[in-house]
Amino acid sequence: MRPSCATIDLDALRANYLLAKRLAGGRTLAVVKADAYGHGAIACAKALEPIADGFAVALLEEALPLRASGISRPIVLLEGVFDPGELTAAAELDLWPVVHHEAQLRMLELASHRPRRIWIKINSGMNRAGFSPREASSVWQRLQAIPGLEAPVWMTHFACADDPRSSMTLEQIQRFHRGVATLPGETSLANSAALLAWPQARGDWARPGILLYGGNPLLPHADPDPARSLRPVMTLSSRVIATRWLSPGEALGYGATFVAERPTRVGLVAIGYADGYPRHAPTGTPVAVEGWRTRLIGRISMDMLTVDLSPLPEDVGQGAIVELWGKTVSVDEVARAAGTISYELLCHVKRVQRIHRGVM
Ligand code: PLP
Repeated sequence: MRPSCATIDLDALRANYLLAKRLAGGRTLAVVKADAYGHGAIACAKALEPIADGFAVALLEEALPLRASGISRPIVLLEGVFDPGELTAAAELDLWPVVHHEAQLRMLELASHRPRRIWIKINSGMNRAGFSPREASSVWQRLQAIPGLEAPVWMTHFACADDPRSSMTLEQIQRFHRGVATLPGETSLANSAALLAWPQARGDWARPGILLYGGNPLLPHADPDPARSLRPVMTLSSRVIATRWLSPGEALGYGATFVAERPTRVGLVAIGYADGYPRHAPTGTPVAVEGWRTRLIGRISMDMLTVDLSPLPEDVGQGAIVELWGKTVSVDEVARAAGTISYELLCHVKRVQRIHRGVM
């Protein structure tokens, strides 16, 4: 069998959730959309169910398999619903949709069967989705006229919480509170970055995603505490399947982008961009072979990539375990080298076996 796999450490996931909850100081939804950022939503939700206050997914179709597999905690639909049929399904399964634009609010008003609880998104400055803070009280008046609806959770989402130097997050917090302070209901502000860097963003419900999976969303200049205690959850690994020596002047791989300056021992690894490893990771991107950090060399191919074995002991060769990211090389490091974010790398892992470890 091809020796490439994503191993998911469910104990680390639980430890990260408890860290998030401690930072939140209140109820904390585990964001498990996009198949739990590539980690397997059902396995992750089952592992978290005994300790989590609830879950958040983007879409109804992501919530259905969670309920079908026995997840009974609250589930928020962050994108809300797209038609009246979805609203009925949400009501039947006690899912809590976010309402973030007029057409969704109208659908709620006209529905004969609707969820008991909804979340209302306030646009506090990201200008992507949500009602303006000034509209909040008229939204509340319309909600009051709808029978059987509990007071909503008022939520907002941050544009720049990953940057502790930006003034935007405090401005968003102020705008949000100005809009909803006098209205009944609960609040939800913080994503992972806000939990790590903005204690002012506390509310009744936090919504961490990437932090649960051990990714640090803060920009590199940010103070790494308490992100230092995060534990990586996914280890993406493969093995060296062949080795060869390059003489000085010999080129490697597509585009011949790497040319050896000195005798170079190359390890061929059975994983490529069709498995989700970023094609744009350049020569020099860190990788670990049998626990030693070394570097990628040459272009990433669809099914293979090549690493520099020259700095490693001679007996590290065919069969050696290669960690693309995990405990020795963080997914954040690889993302930075490839000019992207850990979210994208984690969500894109495919075609490899996924193995869940730890108590389910
Ligand atoms: N809340 C909302 C509305 C989101 O869209 C997301 C993710 O995109 C999250 C929370 C979780 O964000 P993060 O993974 O940065 O914690």
